Amino acid sequence: MKIVVKVGTGVLTRENGTLDGSSIVHLVSALADLMQQGHQVVLVSSGAVGAGVSVLGLPSYPQELSLKQACAAVGQTRLMQTYENLFNHFDVDVAQLLLTADDLKRRRHHVQATVMRLFEHGRIIPIVNENDTVSVEELKFGDNDILSVHIARMLEADALFILTSVDGLYPPGGSRKAIIPRVEDVDAVLAFAEEDRGRFSMGGMSAKLQAIREAVNAGIGAYMMHGRHPERIGVLLEGGREEAGTFFVPKKG
Ligand code: GLU
Repeated sequence: MKIVVKVGTGVLTRENGTLDGSSIVHLVSALADLMQQGHQVVLVSSGAVGAGVSVLGLPSYPQELSLKQACAAVGQTRLMQTYENLFNHFDVDVAQLLLTADDLKRRRHHVQATVMRLFEHGRIIPIVNENDTVSVEELKFGDNDILSVHIARMLEADALFILTSVDGLYPPGGSRKAIIPRVEDVDAVLAFAEEDRGRFSMGGMSAKLQAIREAVNAGIGAYMMHGRHPERIGVLLEGGREEAGTFFVPKKG
């Protein structure tokens, strides 16, 4: 299967602005496993800005655009170096694709052809991020959730996995006991994510759900799951356990 896996900054970096090695080791091992099973995997990885924070000696994640871009420039190389070293242990090479929204609009076929060539090789994982140093406001995707949806649509992927800092989507009302295993209607859950915003900092969640809505409307099934348990991707792909993540059912085209 062709799958796109998106991982957020919160999973990849620590509060102090360094890369979280143990989390990345897990991720790499899970993705290498999937490739070993014959799946074609694209990784959409955030974390460039987060990884640059400590290098530039900043006390926290920057707000100013040029500072974010400087962090991304220095953090992206650290991120890729880490991925390269770890994937090499599994005999997998990495390819870096830094894109702007404009690239995917105007030069989409080139990007698509590049990824297809990389897939033909069999043991290369394309790693995508936004090209932060040249992505000014009007060229931006919005965030990497949206970028991952664009990539999944471009590749006509079989599934999109959004790895985040929660196990999946929780029911409204603040009960954190069990996630919702399956969502047929994203619009309905978007309404309650909006309502819960603030109380449980669901702002990020509603942006994710909007991105997911775009994926399922395009006929791509999407999963929201915990980034610290990337081995669950394999479980979910096999139709596995309910608590492994939330599945958003694709619309039939
Ligand atoms: N491109 C940014 C980074 O690598 C992250 C953007 C996002 O997560 O939405 O740090």
